[in-house]
Amino acid sequence: MNHIGIAGTGYVGLVTGVCLAEVGHHVTCLDISKEKIALLRSGKSPIFEPGLDEMLQKNIREERLHFTTERTEAYHGKDMIFIAVGTPEGENGQADLSYVRQAAADIADTVTNDIIVVTKSTVPVGTNEMVEDIIRSKSKIDVHAVSNPEFLREGNAIYDAFHGDRIVIGGNHEPAVQKVAALYEPFDIPVVQTDTKSAELIKYASNAFLATKISFINEIANICEITGANVEAVAKGMGLDKRIGTQFLKAGIGFGGSCFPKDTKALTSMSAEAGYEFRMLNAVLEVNELQHNKLMEKANEYSAIHRGTKTAVLGLAFKPNTDDTRDSPAIHMIEELQRKGADIIAYDPIATDKMKAVFPDLTYTDSLEEALRGAETAFIITDWQQIKEQTPDFFTKLMKRPLIFDGRNCFDPGDMLSGGIHYHSIGRSGNS
Ligand code: NAD
Repeated sequence: MNHIGIAGTGYVGLVTGVCLAEVGHHVTCLDISKEKIALLRSGKSPIFEPGLDEMLQKNIREERLHFTTERTEAYHGKDMIFIAVGTPEGENGQADLSYVRQAAADIADTVTNDIIVVTKSTVPVGTNEMVEDIIRSKSKIDVHAVSNPEFLREGNAIYDAFHGDRIVIGGNHEPAVQKVAALYEPFDIPVVQTDTKSAELIKYASNAFLATKISFINEIANICEITGANVEAVAKGMGLDKRIGTQFLKAGIGFGGSCFPKDTKALTSMSAEAGYEFRMLNAVLEVNELQHNKLMEKANEYSAIHRGTKTAVLGLAFKPNTDDTRDSPAIHMIEELQRKGADIIAYDPIATDKMKAVFPDLTYTDSLEEALRGAETAFIITDWQQIKEQTPDFFTKLMKRPLIFDGRNCFDPGDMLSGGIHYHSIGRSGNS
């Protein structure tokens, strides 16, 4: 059993803390947000993640998991401290490391024993070295930073913590690396052990590669629309080749979320700083931006949106099963619709509260029926199960004019056409 401190109780810090407590460690999580800590202390998670609330409450009850806003309580006398603070997009696309620097400075100010600092945040090559330098320059303690990037998928985070594809641990001090590796033994997940810089880069390379797959299939979808091919058939035919794989070949209106856009930009920017132009990633980002406009381009072809057109935006989260709306394609869609003066009602089963921070004056609902009642046009942005399971009948009964632009290919175009819906999706022939 180790005594562990965690800086940051967001998606990564909270899930890490809860799962490490679940396997028997004594974990204290720190956040600068008093509201988050108050909520967590009462056993409620500030984020939606299947299975998280139950595990959170159990470990609080069994006194292995604590939450605090006090640095001393979180850091003093611990065996290891995890840094899981945000690394948002900074100027020129590079990762903003101010929260990481602050966490390192806080550790230096608080800790009096030698310490292992484990960096879970996604950080550019050289950041773990920087963390060690900050702590050494401000204190007399001996510190070893170990890179342990996080690969969880929001919406599957607890599952991924116990069944992920790999755990990456990078460090230049073998005993520290072994101590971190030992933490993960109960998880029975293959460990990739490497040097610090390679571990830091593995995270960016992985996310940028997945983003590349998405932009690639979106370009194929655009070719399909011009030539009359069907992107789903093409993706299936490609994906069954094991060298390609079936995942991340789903065409749509582009990727969003708190990781892919910022990490792809950060890798581009990190490369440029190192004197290397990562040409391909510039294209991946450009394709994604263009793809965000796809539904509006289609709507324009049909002159679907005018001032006052009653318009339902279906789905606000950047993907299903999460309430995360950061960099969601829905933001771009809503801005475009607002520019045209549409009368918007926005639906999401769980993410409306998070979107209110971006568009406080928008009309929201967590009822799909209410969003569609009397709507003249609907835009599908997130492929929530609640949307996908509907039949054409559901839409025709509720909508004033059954005109649907589907950015996630939730329905079969033939079914929608025979159900009386004007249905337009991405990269598929038929009623589009
Ligand atoms: P988040 O924004 O949800 O949470 C970060 C938390 O850190 C916030 O609650 C913030 O208040 C807190 N914080 C900031 N400064 C602090 C400090 N000095 N001390 C204590 N707490 C502090 O971020 P997230 O989504 O959990 O991501 C964290 C990191 O993990 C990022 O680098 C991200 O790129 C990476 N990551 C995220 C995901 C994901 O799916 N969200 C997956 C893999 C990796």
